[in-house]
Amino acid sequence: GPVWVGIDVGGTKVLAGLVDATGRVLRTARLESGGPRATEAALEQTLTDALDLVCEGVTPHGVGLAAAGLVDGAGERVAFAPHLPWRDADVRARLSSRWGLPVALENDATCALWAEVEHGVLAGVSDAVLVTLGTGIGGGLLIGGRVVRGAGGMAGEFGHMQLVPDGRPCPCGLSGCWERYASGTALEVAAEGRLATGPAITAAARAGDELAVAALADVGRWLGVGVANLVSALDPAVVVVGGGVSSAGDLVLAPAAAALRTHLLAARHRRVPDLVVAHHAEHAGVVGAAALARRLTQGSPAG
Ligand code: BGC
Ligand code: ZN
Repeated sequence: GPVWVGIDVGGTKVLAGLVDATGRVLRTARLESGGPRATEAALEQTLTDALDLVCEGVTPHGVGLAAAGLVDGAGERVAFAPHLPWRDADVRARLSSRWGLPVALENDATCALWAEVEHGVLAGVSDAVLVTLGTGIGGGLLIGGRVVRGAGGMAGEFGHMQLVPDGRPCPCGLSGCWERYASGTALEVAAEGRLATGPAITAAARAGDELAVAALADVGRWLGVGVANLVSALDPAVVVVGGGVSSAGDLVLAPAAAALRTHLLAARHRRVPDLVVAHHAEHAGVVGAAALARRLTQGSPAG
C-alpha cells in the first residue's frame, strides 16, 4: 500500500520513519541532528541522508517534517528554533524541490498531538494539552476538537514561558524558561552530571539510586507547576506527557500530579485533569508528520 515518511527533527536526533495509512511505523532511521551549532546546509543534508536510509527502494507519496521550532502560519518556514540552526528558513519549498516530493512542515509537538488525535490517547477527546519532554519542552493544544496553531502558527510554545524570574539562561535568549527546569536537559542538570543521559538516569532510578530518583522527582515537580498554569489557562480534560522523559512513568508523573494538585487554582472544586503518558512515545513526531503528509497528498484538510 501507499507509504509516507515522517521525519522528527529534534535538537539531539533526527528520526525518520516510513509510515503506512493506518499510522503504523514500518521502519526507522536515526541520525544525530548536530544541534544549534550545525549549519542549515549540514542539517538539511542529514535529513536527506535519513530520508534515503528509510526509503531504500520505495517511493513515498510525501514527507512530513516535525521540526523542533517555530513554524509559520503557512507551514513554509521555520522562523526560529532554539536547538537547531534554522532562522527564517524556507524549509518546506527548499526540501520539496530537493527531494522532488510533496513536503508538509509543522512543529514537532503539534505533530505529536496529531499522532495522539489520529491514532492515540486523544481519539474522541476535544480539549487537551500535550507536553513533550526532550531536549526542550514542546507544546500542543487541542481546543473544541481543533488543533490550535495560533495567528502566526506559533501557539503552544509552553517551554519558553517564564517560570523562574532571573532563572537559568535558555538557548532561546530568554531566561527562567520552563524547559530549563523540566526536560531531558533539565534532568541531566538535576542529576548533577553524575549520570550523563536521561535513559541512564531512569535506569538508575529503577534500580533504587537515590540521586536519580530525586532528579526525576525534581523534574516532575517542575512539570506539575507548569502544567498547573496551563490547566488554569485552558481547562483541558487530559494532559498528555510525551518525549523521552515520559518513559520514566510514575517516577516523574507521580510528583508531577502532586505538584499539579498543589499549585492548581481551585483544585478542590474542580476535576483535576489526568496526566497521561503519550501512546506514541518516541515515534509521535514521526507518526504525526507522516499523517500531515498523508492529508496533504490525499487532499483532506488538516484541522
Ligand atoms: C522549541 C519548540 C519545540 C520544543 C520541543 C522548544 O525549545 O521552542 O518549538 O517544540 O522545544 O522540541
Ligand atoms: Zn527559552
